[in-house]
Amino acid sequence: MREDWHDAISRVDMDRLWQRHVEMARIGAIAGNGVNRPAFSKEDIEARKLLLGWARVRNFGVAMDAIGNLFIRRPGTDPDAAPVMSGSHMDTQPRGGRFDGIYGVLAALEALEAIDRAGVKTRRPIELVAWSNEEGGRFQPCTMGSAVYTGAKALEDFLSATDNDGIVLRDALGQTLAATPGLGERALAAPAAPAAAYLEAHIEQGPRLEREHKTIGVVTGIQGLRWFNVEVFGESAHAGTTPVGARKDALREAIAAIDALRDLTQDPSDTTRFTVGRMLVTPNSPNSVASHVLFSVDIRHPDLATIDRLGKGVEPTVRRAVGRCTVKVTPTLHDDPCAFDSMVIDCVERAANALGIPNLRMPSGASHDAMYMSRVCPTGMIFVPCERGISHNEAENAAPEDLVSGARALTSVLLELAGS
Ligand SMILES: [Zn+2]
Repeated sequence: MREDWHDAISRVDMDRLWQRHVEMARIGAIAGNGVNRPAFSKEDIEARKLLLGWARVRNFGVAMDAIGNLFIRRPGTDPDAAPVMSGSHMDTQPRGGRFDGIYGVLAALEALEAIDRAGVKTRRPIELVAWSNEEGGRFQPCTMGSAVYTGAKALEDFLSATDNDGIVLRDALGQTLAATPGLGERALAAPAAPAAAYLEAHIEQGPRLEREHKTIGVVTGIQGLRWFNVEVFGESAHAGTTPVGARKDALREAIAAIDALRDLTQDPSDTTRFTVGRMLVTPNSPNSVASHVLFSVDIRHPDLATIDRLGKGVEPTVRRAVGRCTVKVTPTLHDDPCAFDSMVIDCVERAANALGIPNLRMPSGASHDAMYMSRVCPTGMIFVPCERGISHNEAENAAPEDLVSGARALTSVLLELAGS
């Protein structure tokens, strides 16, 4: 390996990387060591400002686009070259942990910082991106920032999304853009060529690396996913006086529909993932029969034919399961399985091997912004282990030694992709 690249990789600093995780975890800290940092919230704004502060110390260029994606750039020697991008997201689940998303942002910052401290010149710019609203915990759907950036979805499609408190995305996004004046002006990328390549580091969010005693997952692709909102319409009635047989009970029938969906997605090999994680009940009172229930459906599978069949089965299954109520099924997200670029996959594997980091090739069970980026440029991901595979949970944990190994591999690959 080139001497100056070696120097840059050796400057990737475990303590600095860890301390930045600690500082970020204070923003939106919740009981049990967790983090609640919803997209476009005051905590999100605070996290953005902290990140921008670190970037400005090193005089990196900063920019933000109309959906609030944040960009931190170290220029290359070729002014016309498209950047190599790397990053992830800073928002969390309502009861999220200290590593999901933020690790990919801080690892990319660490790579930029180490390369900068070593004074390495790269031909292409290297650009950190912190994508807006990856989690979809507050505003649905998820992976909004990368969907808009890559042209897969239009910004306008998302502006009227509403959170559980009735706050409209347009307003929350407006506040986020206004909080960092002068940054919200970067045009959305033309879908044609937003980047030369994209590489995202992330905790695995599953148990495989830990079980197999590997430090890096060389990610080969992402399984497909279908999301729906299912609404069941019944009739509110008095819990004490209305005969059970005369009710249109939206909650009971929603539960019957969920049971039927569980049967639809039954899989002896345990490959299919089926989740109902969100339910809104109206009027949500102990002594009223529910008049309306909205619940989410999330189904995932790595095989295109299977995810297609399951997705198409949702509406008829729900309709068969309800009795006296009426239903409405709205698809909210439709992502086919994606395969990452073989050049990037090979590059990650080579870097891990050259650095002596135990690794294995694996698909991603979770969705990531890399899915949208893979449609517009050569893309890959680096996974690092998280304790017992626990994620989307306050107890999410990762070891500083593993985080820094991932950041070193990331730095190595970014240097190779950015060229000299
Ligand atoms: Zn994530």
